[in-house]
Amino acid sequence: MNERPDRNNLIKQLEDARFSCEMCAECCVGPDNEVIVSPDEVEALSRASGLSFDEIAEPYPEWFEENGERFTFSWVLRRREDGRCMFLEQSRCRYYASRPHLCRTYPFMLNQGNLLISECPALGKSATKDAGNLADALILRQDADDSEFEATRREYQKHSIVSGKTLVIDSRGAHLLKE
Ligand code: SF4
Repeated sequence: MNERPDRNNLIKQLEDARFSCEMCAECCVGPDNEVIVSPDEVEALSRASGLSFDEIAEPYPEWFEENGERFTFSWVLRRREDGRCMFLEQSRCRYYASRPHLCRTYPFMLNQGNLLISECPALGKSATKDAGNLADALILRQDADDSEFEATRREYQKHSIVSGKTLVIDSRGAHLLKE
């Protein structure tokens, strides 16, 4: 489990970053826009959009091979051919209320309780909006990521090896991919 950050200290760091989202949608486009999602997050988007799990997510593209089995962990949101997230409409998320943790907290994330900041054109410009809510969203994301990681690890340890097959292993089990 990751260390929990001190909330007040986190708020102070977020305020120092002077970030207020400009809705430019830079984080929803391009080759680096890989939104890693848990099954719970895919389901939330599925409820909002009416699309199936497979229509929303594809396997995380880092593959491992062991005992003739090919597998990966977790899922990423599908993108259009031009690299834009499938849910981006002009510069707005179509399912903003159901967007994943990563989207809610970009350009920030916690690692071992430390704040990491990714590139974003809105950084350093104006007073951070809702730093308290952002801090809570980051802590919630870290907790959700920790639970997903632990449950995925357990599922990996207990799954039966299926030689010659391709699997996605997540917190809910080992899912055989259709060939
Ligand atoms: S789910 Fe919404 S906020 Fe997240 S990358 Fe896609 S369009 Fe952007």
